[in-house]
Amino acid sequence: MYLGIDIGSAASKMVLVNEKLEVKYRYIKNLGVGVSGDILNDFYKESGLLKPDIKYSVATGYGRLMFDGADAEITEISCHAKGVSHLVKGAKTLLDIGGQDAKVTELGPEGSVENFAMNDKCAAGTGRFLELMSHVLGCKVHELSDLAQQSDKAVHISNTCTVFAESEVISRLAAGESKTNIARGLHASIANKIIGLVKRADGGPLYVMTGGVAQNKDVVSEISKALGQKILVPDHPQMVGAYGAAIFARNRSMNC
Ligand code: ADP
Repeated sequence: MYLGIDIGSAASKMVLVNEKLEVKYRYIKNLGVGVSGDILNDFYKESGLLKPDIKYSVATGYGRLMFDGADAEITEISCHAKGVSHLVKGAKTLLDIGGQDAKVTELGPEGSVENFAMNDKCAAGTGRFLELMSHVLGCKVHELSDLAQQSDKAVHISNTCTVFAESEVISRLAAGESKTNIARGLHASIANKIIGLVKRADGGPLYVMTGGVAQNKDVVSEISKALGQKILVPDHPQMVGAYGAAIFARNRSMNC
């Protein structure tokens, strides 16, 4: 079997596939680069698999260069593109929002990368932004979507810088704005950032979203509204990079 390992900034993900690229195991640990510890051993313990069960492995993600337990390493842009091309036939533009960056990729044939745009300079428009804002709103990051979907309007958050946005949210709360409307406003602010990236690497429809933040339905819907296009989210969107890495592992092992 073949293993894809995605060491991200916020979470470490692994996907195991067989020769037919069927997923046989998924593993996630909500610890990212530098603090993920011996995740390979944790994976073996949890899955009951042994080292000889893995014919080839590929590491990807922000922490891939610090990880020495894989046979090869490949960038997360290539791995997400490869994973999506297998999961969603006809995908042309990929929006990937992870813990500390957001990327838009124009896809070519068979998951090749034609062009990409990335925001990794600041937390605005990333999962980290949502994590910090969920603390201010007193909820968990995965609760933000439901909160925003109960809103009756979006409270406009004018600061994109996370530090200033945090102060702005606190003053909006003090002024009596509801948490639901603020949550919707925060998602709209992420959508705004992502639209800027789409303009730089737009492959057109079909648009697909991956990464941990794709689990937030309200963010997906705000981006979709701003784009004026439907956005498809595959099952297990946070695991797509690891799945792509597993596909590369299988292909390299079988020389195809
Ligand atoms: P990375 O590869 O950088 O570690 P991921 O693609 O794994 O990033 O995504 C991690 C981010 O996803 C975290 O910042 C977290 O806030 C966000 N996230 C995880 N689960 C959810 C969820 N259910 N709803 C919204 N965001 C989520």
